[in-house]
Amino acid sequence: MSIPRKRFDTLVIGAGGGGLRAALQLSQAEANVAVVSKVFPTRSHTVAAQGGINAALANVLPDNWHWHMYDTVKGSDYLGDQDAIEYMCRAASHIVIELEHAGVPFSRLNNGKIYQRAFGGQSQDFGGEQAARTCAAADRTGHAILHTLYQQNIRAKTHFFDEFFAIDLIKDEEGYILGAVILSIETGEPYIIEAKTTLLATGGAGQIFRTNTNARINTGDGMAMALRADIPIQDMEFFQFHPTGIAGKGMLITEGARGEGGFLVNKNGERFMERYATHAKDLASRDVVSRSIAIEVREGRGCGPKGDHVLLKVDHLGADVVAKRLPGIRDTVLTFLHMDPVEKPIPVFPTAHYTMGGIPTNRYGQVVAPLGQGAEEPIPGLYAVGECACVSVHGANRLGGNSLLDIIVFGRAAGNDIIDFLKENRFHRPLDEGSVDQALSRLARWDQRGEGESVDALRQELQQTMEDYCGVFREEKVLQEGVNKVKAMEARLAAVRIQDHSSVFNTQRIEAMELENLFDVALATVTSALARQESRGAHSRVDYPERDDEHWLKHSLFYKKDHRLDFKPVRTKPLSVDSFPPKPRVY
Ligand SMILES: Cc1cc2nc3c(=O)[nH]c(=O)nc-3n(C[C@H](O)[C@H](O)[C@H](O)COP(=O)(O)OP(=O)(O)OC[C@H]3O[C@@H](n4cnc5c(N)ncnc54)[C@H](O)[C@@H]3O)c2cc1C
Repeated sequence: MSIPRKRFDTLVIGAGGGGLRAALQLSQAEANVAVVSKVFPTRSHTVAAQGGINAALANVLPDNWHWHMYDTVKGSDYLGDQDAIEYMCRAASHIVIELEHAGVPFSRLNNGKIYQRAFGGQSQDFGGEQAARTCAAADRTGHAILHTLYQQNIRAKTHFFDEFFAIDLIKDEEGYILGAVILSIETGEPYIIEAKTTLLATGGAGQIFRTNTNARINTGDGMAMALRADIPIQDMEFFQFHPTGIAGKGMLITEGARGEGGFLVNKNGERFMERYATHAKDLASRDVVSRSIAIEVREGRGCGPKGDHVLLKVDHLGADVVAKRLPGIRDTVLTFLHMDPVEKPIPVFPTAHYTMGGIPTNRYGQVVAPLGQGAEEPIPGLYAVGECACVSVHGANRLGGNSLLDIIVFGRAAGNDIIDFLKENRFHRPLDEGSVDQALSRLARWDQRGEGESVDALRQELQQTMEDYCGVFREEKVLQEGVNKVKAMEARLAAVRIQDHSSVFNTQRIEAMELENLFDVALATVTSALARQESRGAHSRVDYPERDDEHWLKHSLFYKKDHRLDFKPVRTKPLSVDSFPPKPRVY
């Protein structure tokens, strides 16, 4: 079969904030850029980001990037790489102003400056009073950023492949990444995109869990593509559970609701966070608040007939504040709960939210392979940014507002590094036909229709298993069972068949390939969680309740081959300031 081939300087897989920021940098430098996205760009999950983007602009309260850096290192439970964290926090103010100039309609203070709200884990003066660092466009910040970046890319003449699904990377014998094989979702035709550099910006993998805040498309495709190209993925045991998802459904109620003065109560009407985080209370870090809610429910102080959730009060804030600062939240609650949060508190419970782990990169966005003893080398031609990458600025727990920052800062940095790479690598390398055939064989596998287990049923079983065996609280026996179950289910993939309805055939093929990706990522997550015998950030082991810096202050690396695990040191040295050494984490 002759497959259409197209050539670009750079292939960007993913049109969320990370991919679009990188593409913009490149198109403005007159590189020839293709952006491939399985959904129309402005439907990428970035569009759903509510609360805002962090930068120490000091528009509302005193602030500086060094305090932001301290909070991020502490929030990461000391697993974040401090060179990358310093780089991100220093770049933040400039990055936000750049977004403003690109056209992002930020909310305003009365003096005309960008509005900033308080978010969890933020402090002034290295752990002092609450800071207000999150720049917001009401509670639709991601929407504002994504639409602006898309429009700027159209102006810069970025070439878009909308509704194309990337199947796998193309790689040669020397380890260079040469582009990818993609599939037109509309026609079912494969294409080969040859590129001198390829950037993965495919977002997170929240769909490995049943109850989650993520879009249906967040299936960890880029991470799985990396795994299949023999690249390990890092720190997958660290998955953030957001404290306030709508109970039983999972849709997100932004931390901004608590930032605006909302708070949590149990069935006795007690503001219980005062007991768990005496200082920061409801604005403690997310892992802390999620665990506190889970404990309240477990100890019988949950609300509702089943006692299975707690309540988030914003009804005391008044209709004006809600209308001005939290309009999207009100819409969400009206739509999914048929009640008005201005009048009644919202039932909430922790929900799977953010993938801290991902494809290992350095602060230039280059994907790096370990060489042993802490040394690393870039994989030539391959970059990754955003939620699919692990740079690692979030370590064991991400602070709210730091992910939009991460995608913009490192999207831009990767764009700049690619421009340098292109200057030195001016020609396309010969295509590796074996690698193309391998990618196509994945597609061929799903050409078989007929009777068998359905994609949907197996996916739901996987998601439920991950929720039951790898949730907020974890322990050896349960995790081991989880690993066994996921492996047994993965073996059943061979018997899965696409049902014979021609009208949905192509969609089902995509969902089948997404399911394969979910299995890769889920197995990485539960295997890494079983291995890490300590509690750190979002990874909370009932059988190892303490953080253990002596043995576990290191990143995990999971390989697809033999499900092997390896480890590498944390980069504790920042670029220009002193390190923040590990301390007990109190809020
Ligand atoms: C409900 C919600 C609210 C949030 N609120 C905030 C917030 O207020 N502040 C904050 O800092 N963070 C927030 N986050 C986190 C933050 O929004 C995300 O981490 C970030 O936007 C991810 O951006 P991204 O560019 O990495 O990926 P995404 O925006 O997820 O985009 C991924 C892209 O990859 C494409 N893609 C994936 N797989 C393939 C494939 N196989 N082939 C082709 N294309 C593919 C998709 O089509 C999409 O274009 C929130 C997250 C959620 C879910």
